[in-house]
Amino acid sequence: MRKSIIAGNWKMYKTINEAIDLANGLKREFFKLDFASVDVVLCPVFTALSEVAEVLNETDIGLGAQDVYWQDEGAFTGEISPVMLKDSGCQYVIIGHSERRQFFGETNETVNKKIKASLKHGLTPIICVGENLQERESNNTFKVIQDHIKGSLQDISADDLLKTVIAYEPVWAIGTGKTATPDQTQEVHKYIRDLLRKMYNQETADSIRIQYGGSVKPENIIELISKSDVDGALVGGASLKVESFSAIVIQASEVKK
Ligand code: PEP
Repeated sequence: MRKSIIAGNWKMYKTINEAIDLANGLKREFFKLDFASVDVVLCPVFTALSEVAEVLNETDIGLGAQDVYWQDEGAFTGEISPVMLKDSGCQYVIIGHSERRQFFGETNETVNKKIKASLKHGLTPIICVGENLQERESNNTFKVIQDHIKGSLQDISADDLLKTVIAYEPVWAIGTGKTATPDQTQEVHKYIRDLLRKMYNQETADSIRIQYGGSVKPENIIELISKSDVDGALVGGASLKVESFSAIVIQASEVKK
């Protein structure tokens, strides 16, 4: 059985004090959460990582960053290394988010380097893949997913793959209010799992967690996560408020599969 994982991607929102308030609010809401049935991860901006880590200290809530560079250190102005993320208290890092691919030149090749560097330093990569609207409408969804998965996972062993989480995020559903239907979501998640079975083996494909991301809200989490291959959610907009994110997490923790 795969344990669900819900991660909040706070994107470029929240000052340090606002991030501390949000983390404290969630900590209060999750005081009685059954962490045996769900993993929860908060991904604030870099500047708030250390302070949010302090708030989350001695809780079961995980901390993640939204990007990483693949070198440990060096003359790479503006970048941040896996060593520095660990030093700030992170256990997770989002890699290859569509906003990075769309606005900052992220490619499958750079995603692959970032995954390897993160694994080397014991960070759990949350690897984002997903098609845009034009790719979906031209029936290229599976081809794009295959390119993202194969390119991103180049030379990554089965053992290492199991230390990662995949996030299927159709670009047309991110921040648009348009959610993929549960059936559309299940179809792509199953495609990814079948592909991983071919690339690796049955056990690895059956064990890896695949989250869905794209306008997840308290109103749609149950129907999405009830699908057999959907193991959680990567949540953007709705992770910025205590009420909506806690409602998503609490409902997800109660779904028995
Ligand atoms: C995201 O940022 O990964 C995301 C899925 O955003 P939203 O939930 O706002 O669509």
